[in-house]
Amino acid sequence: MSEPHIRTELPGPNARALIARDAEVISPSYPRDYPFVMSHGRGTEVWDVDGNRFLDFAAGIAVCSTGHAHPQVVAAVQGAAEKFLHISSDYWHEQMTGLGERLARIAPMGEPAMSFLCQSGTEAVEAAIKLARYVTGRSRFIGFLGGFHGRTMGSLAFTSSKYTQQKGFFATMPGVVHVPYPDPYRPLFAGDNQGVAVLDYIRMLFERSVPASEVAAILVEPIQGEGGYVVPPDGFLAGLRALCDEHGILLIFDEVQSGIGRTGRMFASQHWGVAPDIMTLAKGMGSGLPVGAMVAKKRLMSQWKRGAHGNTYGGNPITCAAANATIDLVEAGMLGNAATVGAHFVNRLVDLANNYPCIGEVRGKGLMIGMELVEADDERTPARALCDAVVTRAFHNGLLLLSCGASTVRFMPPLNVSRDEVDEAIALLRISLDEALAGRGS
Ligand code: PMP
Repeated sequence: MSEPHIRTELPGPNARALIARDAEVISPSYPRDYPFVMSHGRGTEVWDVDGNRFLDFAAGIAVCSTGHAHPQVVAAVQGAAEKFLHISSDYWHEQMTGLGERLARIAPMGEPAMSFLCQSGTEAVEAAIKLARYVTGRSRFIGFLGGFHGRTMGSLAFTSSKYTQQKGFFATMPGVVHVPYPDPYRPLFAGDNQGVAVLDYIRMLFERSVPASEVAAILVEPIQGEGGYVVPPDGFLAGLRALCDEHGILLIFDEVQSGIGRTGRMFASQHWGVAPDIMTLAKGMGSGLPVGAMVAKKRLMSQWKRGAHGNTYGGNPITCAAANATIDLVEAGMLGNAATVGAHFVNRLVDLANNYPCIGEVRGKGLMIGMELVEADDERTPARALCDAVVTRAFHNGLLLLSCGASTVRFMPPLNVSRDEVDEAIALLRISLDEALAGRGS
């Protein structure tokens, strides 16, 4: 592509002016890593308010799944908006029912499923927690260290990817016990199979401190997201499924980040063929419109009595129209693109890793890819400062990235990203790595 990415010193004058206004009126709690001020976007490209062009490999934290301003999503939103902007979930309408039908069709439960609609990931998780307690009559839960499930008091009780997320907010919802997530790269347990070790650990917990008969559900990300794009060993999710079945515990997969095509399958759990009882969705489901869902086996969800759970905006016609268009686009081709371009991307990153000893591991599925940065002297020691510097230098070079975990650069571009865009991003990443290694962190 001939157009230069960056025309001004970053942040440019217009960006600086807006950031100064924002600092007076918007909460400082948002974890903003670098000063990108959006003007507009198209596909994988975005422009800032000073006319600088960037490739967006963060996609609104894996949200802009169909790329920025996909014409089919925009048309669906416009079409719905022209009819009515809102009617509460006290009533029925085509977009809401249509979304429920789509989710029931693609849900990986292996049996009929129903959906509760909401606006965000955290609300989907809250709904899952409530349904699990309601149908089991049990109150305890197992969650995972490094997990991220949201920031409201129920989901926050499970969230443990960074201490800053919980600090100052205790006590959250009681009853949640965290166990280690199986991490093959940084194993906590002895032995070759971290998945087996974690399952044994949970069994030990059941015997010694958390009676299985009191556990409503195990809540797990099939691929851990904020915790570092950690892919569990084969057999782990199946092992969890068996453990749950043995004890009448529900298995909840949080697919808020990994779902709706991100990993090259509609749901990450499908890489291992394991069916959850309940699944949570948001992020990529609406291409950027705030829509989430708690999808559950029909035989569970149908136990909810009228009025047991609800909300004002669930099933909003605009957000549901965006989700319907998104699911249609993902099914119509973006899923395949995520798998093939994702494989190409991983190959390019592995090539890079061969030349950069600071890249400890490249992992992921589809377009949910992590690049673990490590100190050169000990290949598995997290290189946090280097990771931050790479992300910052990438911004200055025209590539939007985010980090996660201890020192993981994560790549989550739109699902329709092209091979050329991936190659362009690799070139920008290489420059950014060189600059960061040369000590240029800002
Ligand atoms: N679950 C997972 C797996 C997530 O990655 C996130 C967001 N990063 C959430 C839940 C919370 O979603 P939201 O920010 O929309 O509440």
